[in-house]
Amino acid sequence: MDFKLDKSHLLQQQLFRNFAETEIKPLAKEMDESEQYDLDLLAKMHKYGFFGIPYSKEYGGCGSDTLAYTLCMEEVSKVDASTGITISVHTSLCCSCINNFGTEEQKQKYLRPLIDGSKTGCFGLTETNAGSDVQGAQTVAVKDGDEWVLNGSKIFTTNSGFADTCVVFALTDRTVPAAKGLTAFIVDLKEMPGITVSENIERMGIRAASNCIVTYENVRVPADRVLGPVGKGFKIAMGALDCGRIGIAAQAVGIAQGALNEAIKYGKERKQFGKPINSFQNTQFKMAEMQTKIDAARLMTWRAAIAEDNHEAFGPLAAMAKLFASDVANEVTRFAVQAMGGYGYCREYPVERMMRDAKITEIYEGTSEVMKMVISGSMKLK
Ligand SMILES: Cc1cc2nc3c(=O)[nH]c(=O)nc-3n(C[C@H](O)[C@H](O)[C@H](O)COP(=O)(O)OP(=O)(O)OC[C@H]3O[C@@H](n4cnc5c(N)ncnc54)[C@H](O)[C@@H]3O)c2cc1C
Repeated sequence: MDFKLDKSHLLQQQLFRNFAETEIKPLAKEMDESEQYDLDLLAKMHKYGFFGIPYSKEYGGCGSDTLAYTLCMEEVSKVDASTGITISVHTSLCCSCINNFGTEEQKQKYLRPLIDGSKTGCFGLTETNAGSDVQGAQTVAVKDGDEWVLNGSKIFTTNSGFADTCVVFALTDRTVPAAKGLTAFIVDLKEMPGITVSENIERMGIRAASNCIVTYENVRVPADRVLGPVGKGFKIAMGALDCGRIGIAAQAVGIAQGALNEAIKYGKERKQFGKPINSFQNTQFKMAEMQTKIDAARLMTWRAAIAEDNHEAFGPLAAMAKLFASDVANEVTRFAVQAMGGYGYCREYPVERMMRDAKITEIYEGTSEVMKMVISGSMKLK
């Protein structure tokens, strides 16, 4: 493994950084306060290919890789974590399922518009009684001729307020555990009768991201929209979450680096006891400690991304990266607020938003406790 980026990745990183600084950063505060994602920004990112980074040009993607995708996730999350999750759920959860399990026809029909910039995707797995434990799923799909009839409700479906396509999971066999009875379906949120999307769920952080309850009532889904084999939905969902965790780790690295950068900038200017606060050794040592942890989290994230790009087993590596990076994001953002004193606590400065945004990285796409289950499960402890 190489510990530095090659020319192509450095170039992509610079492009993502420039876009984040000029197009996303100026909107981040207003989007957080209004709890609305800016749809013009969404359209612009689609146009520039931000939603198809690791996917083949054959289907309209950028033909890049997971490592480049983590660079994008870090750069956008440095200035706005809501943008990070918007890209991440579309790319790693929705598109990865279709890319990895779709037939050629499904890829042409459903993946192409998602990665060529025409449509936005989401992923519906979580239900009120099925969070960490997918076994609690109650959404069902019953076969009726050439169609499946879908009934149930999914909570916390990110992007669903404006998304077109959703990969949704439903029980097609209730006589077996969900691990064997779940099936994945590709549905059109805006076009299929019987689908209702709630208002945005009010949240502590990533407030600009769209996150709603999606209800399915007698939704008729043609059989050619079944993704992968019937009964293999659990495997598809877990595979997507493995991919997704790399993106969340990168999001956490971005939030942490963004907050530390703000604290460094502030500490150069802010004077107390006649000196800039960055000249106190206590501040310098703390900054050094935070940067070291961020670098470690970044390297773990790149390691997981490179393993995925090399088609090696990456699930536990992704879980380690997410576990560590999300912890670092929370520690660093807390520090950044502290280092900026009362001003860090005010909404005028972005670190208070970053501290609120950091918390979710320990919860979604598997909580930190679930990450420890994945990691310990791979350690042959018994
Ligand atoms: C903003 C946001 C966006 C989201 N986006 C999506 C999305 O796009 N699609 C989607 O399908 N889902 C999404 N989710 C759902 C998210 O993945 C779940 O919230 C998460 O997996 C945890 O499930 P839960 O909230 O039901 O918590 P629970 O599973 O009820 O967990 C509660 C607590 O118990 C702990 N716990 C549970 N079981 C164990 C155990 N066996 N051992 C030790 N501790 C345990 C957990 O770690 C946690 O601390 C999103 C959630 C949020 C808040």
